[in-house]
Amino acid sequence: MKFIEPSFEIDNKGRTICKNHNYYQFFKIPHKTVYQERQLEKILTCKACEHYYNNDCFFPKREIDLIERDRQKERIKCQLCGNRIHRLLTIVQSLYYEAKFNVKVPLICCDCHLSLNDQSFMQRTKLRLVGFMISFLISIYLIFYFFITLLSPTIFIIFGLMFLIFWFSTSMKDIKKIFYLREGRKYYKKFISQPNGKK
Ligand SMILES: [Zn+2]
Repeated sequence: MKFIEPSFEIDNKGRTICKNHNYYQFFKIPHKTVYQERQLEKILTCKACEHYYNNDCFFPKREIDLIERDRQKERIKCQLCGNRIHRLLTIVQSLYYEAKFNVKVPLICCDCHLSLNDQSFMQRTKLRLVGFMISFLISIYLIFYFFITLLSPTIFIIFGLMFLIFWFSTSMKDIKKIFYLREGRKYYKKFISQPNGKK
């Protein structure tokens, strides 16, 4: 059985296209309508290719399924930005060059590919870095806020207990004083004050 060797090219949107995909002619239509673009997004995958169904591609059907599973589980990431690789063909191309020519082609997502093409990669990643740093600082602030909120009942309980002890000891002193005073007054009335004297 003769296997179909995939052959790749990158379109103007940074998407990897296989020249032996049975929808290749459709992929190449210039100035696609919005509907056609949406169609392309759906079928720009080995899984829409007849060679996948016929299992006569260089990559067996089972292997493509495994690659697609890993891609969907985000085990395969863009080497430049760490984002998920959106298209199966990008990964298949990299694996093909590695298997066939022992050349490791870095896996790069379409967005990074485009920014490499128009030399805006450093600028775009700088903006994203700033965005993530702001987001990180906000999350640090939120975690501190979270722990302070968590701690606040403890602080409240500690201060509350200290206040209760203070209140209790003060109150006990007051109660004792009231008790002593009452007893003293009784004692005074009984033994010290004059029998007819008013106090
Ligand atoms: Zn990327």
